[in-house]
Order: sequence, then structure tokens, then C-alpha cells
Amino acid sequence: MALRYTFANQKGGVGKTTTVVNLAASMALWGFRTLVVDADPQCNATTSLGLDARALERSVYEVLVGGLPVRQAIVSTRWDGLDLLPSTPGLAGATVELNAEPAQERVGRLARVLAGVEGYDYVLVDSPPSLGVLTVNALVAAQGVVVPVQCEYLALEGLTQLTHTITLVQRALNPNLALRGVVMTMFDRRTTLANEVVSQVRKHFPKRVFESVIPRSVRLSEAPSYGEPGVVYAPRSQGAVAYLCLARELLVGDGHTVDWEPEPG
Ligand code: ATP
Ligand code: MG
Repeated sequence: MALRYTFANQKGGVGKTTTVVNLAASMALWGFRTLVVDADPQCNATTSLGLDARALERSVYEVLVGGLPVRQAIVSTRWDGLDLLPSTPGLAGATVELNAEPAQERVGRLARVLAGVEGYDYVLVDSPPSLGVLTVNALVAAQGVVVPVQCEYLALEGLTQLTHTITLVQRALNPNLALRGVVMTMFDRRTTLANEVVSQVRKHFPKRVFESVIPRSVRLSEAPSYGEPGVVYAPRSQGAVAYLCLARELLVGDGHTVDWEPEPG
């Protein structure tokens, strides 16, 4: 059975998609069969993996509201062991359509779809910057939630609301959901603020913040425009190495062995 993780933070631009895409690519690189589920109408995970969202005829949208068998919408990427259930801009319409459904059906759709997906070690779900019906579907469908947090002023703002939503989902819909961890992103070691933010967040979520901190990296931000994950586009860049370290930390935490070490220096 695949481990399913949802990456969520209703704050926009904190690094959810970048984290999903780079972790997934790292996992696939090391032989873990990985499926990325793009549950965001912005389709950033889809484009970051080199697909043209506007040219796709089958996507998570048709699966969620049109009853298309999920296998028919999953595509392989250019990288071995890395598949994608893509999104299209039309997914925005799913919000309206799903909200017209009865409550349980509305939020449990993705969980049902993913329960029928076989052949992966990991399923990583990217969610949009809101706590709406798509994000709740993504939380109901997962065993763990990973929360990327940007190292900036007011980083903790909004996290109370997110934690509350996670608790509600745990109580009412998905008792198996756990907070898998918080990832600090876009860290700038030159600023004292970034360091303060990291310690503040560590204090707020004791033992829940990953050791691996992702630095601000031009290479990571360039990679999507080439349709490649940063760990493929610039594997020796600081950002890529940080994501590889994070992937190893996550995998080891899940009981896997990873035979990879960052190069010294
Ligand atoms: P949204 O809420 O809109 O879905 P997001 O949380 O998924 O956003 P990303 O799209 O991953 O965030 O990142 C936002 C922007 O910041 C992107 O342009 C991305 O390339 C850039 N970015 C992400 N992580 C880093 C980093 N470590 N260093 C530099 N730029 C980064
Ligand atoms: Mg995103």
C-alpha cells in the first residue's frame, strides 16, 4: 500500500508545489514508485513536471466529477518511477460541482479515487492555497499532512487555522490523518529574521519540524520553467541538495533505507 501525503498550507506561494515536485523526483530517483496528484487548478505541479496542462484531455477533474477511471488519467513523466495525475484549469469548476454534493460525498471523493490506485510506494498530493473543498478532499485522502512554511515574518499566521482544519478532518472524516511534519522553505541564512522564524516554528511544533531546511535558491525557482524538478535540473545546487536531504529524512522516518549522502563541501 502506498503512503499518501498531502502538502497543505492555505497561504499562497510558500513552497507546496516545489516541495511536492522535488520530493517526488528524489523518491523516484531512489527507486520508490511515486505518484504526484495535482489537486490545484493552478496546475503548477503539472507544468513543473513538464506537461502542458491546457493540452490535457484527461485530468483529476474528470476523475473527481466525471467518474473517469483514475488509471485513464494518470500519465507517466519523463522520469522513471514518477507518474502524475495531472490538473487542468477546469478543476476550478470542481469546487462548485463538489459543493453541490451531499457532505460526505463532497469531501471523500479523492480518498475513494486514491484508494483504488495501486503500484506506488508514495502518493504525494499538491493542494491549492485555500482550505476549500479541494484541500479538504486532499486531507481526507491522506495518512499524513506535510506543511511547508516560508521563513518570513508572520510565518505562523494562519497555521492555527490550518491546524484546526486538520483536527476537524481527523475527528469527523479521517482519524488516520497525522501531521507528518513542517518544512521550512525559502530560508535565507543571511537574515536574523529567518533564523528567528525557524526557532519560533520549532517551538510551536515541537519535534514536528524537519531538520532539513530548504534555502532560497534561484535554481529551484528556475527549474519549473524548464519543466523539470530542481533535483533534476540542478542536482548539485544547494536547493536541490536540501530537497534530497529532506526526501531522505522523510523516507528514513518512514522506515526505509536510503543509500545517498550529500557530497562534502
Ligand atoms: P501556491 O500557494 O500558489 O500553490 P506554493 O505554495 O505551491 O504556491 P510554490 O509554487 O512552490 O509555492 O513556490 C512559490 C514561488 O516561489 C514559485 O515561483 C517557486 O518557484 C518559488 N520558490 C519555491 N521554493 C523556492 C526556494 N526554495 N527558493 C527560491 N524560490 C522558491
Ligand atoms: Mg502550488
